[in-house]
Amino acid sequence: MKSAQVYIHVPFCKRKCEYCDFLSAPMGEEARDAYVKRLIYEIKNSEWAQKGIFVPTVFLGGGTPSLLTGRQIKSIMDTLFTNFEVAEDCEITMEANPGTVTKESLKAYREAGINRLSIGLQSANNEELKALGRIHTYEEFLESYELAREEGFTNINVDLMSALPYQKIQTYRETLEKVCALKPEHISAYSLIVEEGTPFYEKYREDVARLERGEDPLVLPSEEEERLMYQDTEAYLKKWGYHRYEISNYAREGFECRHNKGYWMRYPYLGFGLGASGFTGSIRTKNTADFKEYMEKEIVPEREVIDTEAAIEEFMFLGLRMDVGISKEAFLREFHKSIEEVYGEVLSKLKEETLIFEKDDRIALTPYGRDVSNYVLAMFLR
Ligand code: SF4
Repeated sequence: MKSAQVYIHVPFCKRKCEYCDFLSAPMGEEARDAYVKRLIYEIKNSEWAQKGIFVPTVFLGGGTPSLLTGRQIKSIMDTLFTNFEVAEDCEITMEANPGTVTKESLKAYREAGINRLSIGLQSANNEELKALGRIHTYEEFLESYELAREEGFTNINVDLMSALPYQKIQTYRETLEKVCALKPEHISAYSLIVEEGTPFYEKYREDVARLERGEDPLVLPSEEEERLMYQDTEAYLKKWGYHRYEISNYAREGFECRHNKGYWMRYPYLGFGLGASGFTGSIRTKNTADFKEYMEKEIVPEREVIDTEAAIEEFMFLGLRMDVGISKEAFLREFHKSIEEVYGEVLSKLKEETLIFEKDDRIALTPYGRDVSNYVLAMFLR
């Protein structure tokens, strides 16, 4: 492997949001400091360190990486710079939560090399934020956003969510308007999924069951409302100069997230930190998700060999998430078979149902196909 993106996991949050099933937990300063030391140890001693691997993008995700101090982020980044060939124009993203950054910390993050900030807002409506169990208000988000601009961040993503409890189409539109008016370079807009095992699931179990039975839920938006919110997202963002380049991601010209595009195009990546995954092109690796084990035992990631069948499926369901879709020639080059040979029947059926279209070398989802993307993408799993 000559080149790989890098993902670094920071598993700390101030408080757990009610809907969250990510690998994160509240922990004190001491644990955070020890974790950063362990992370640095892992990076330095990785089998990939000091091999001249070229790194085009880095993503510090979590959790809440902005709970780490500027000094801690700098020590992590310096370790990467020393052990890998980090590209001069490397896109280096860090996730941040409103209310966890200060002028000083933002300045230090910039100096450490962070050049893209991804801020988790989710909603501009304080009642909705409260229902989600978020730690911040919209006003606190605004303060953090403006501080980031003042400190020179010229590439900012804002995360939004729809289909929230008590959310109305009108409040969602207000969120879209408010956020677009701030002109971030990138907006991610996902629908809330109520995951089993979260406090949310217990609260809205009845709603989820009603949705599954095709009945109107009590407080979650109905399927119809959810669909309208999804359609609004594209229409509003288009009006404000954003283009969609993936099912849930929108950007101003030139600001698509290179790191995430790498995932959808199956570019190799290295994962460092608790529970982090990596992908070499043929092998998927995964670090332990057990904090004590990660901190105390030798870090030996689990390895799973991706066979051709799984690789083909990934190629399709990841590639089709992007508006540009997939290249038939790239399929042939990678798998030494034509796409028609493998998916001929599925492709004909989906074309007939106007869910996908073919243009020159590319196959992509139609607008209707994007509306029901879960159904379409599942068709490529064999
Ligand atoms: S801030 Fe993000 S990672 Fe942390 S608990 Fe909330 S949703 Fe989960």
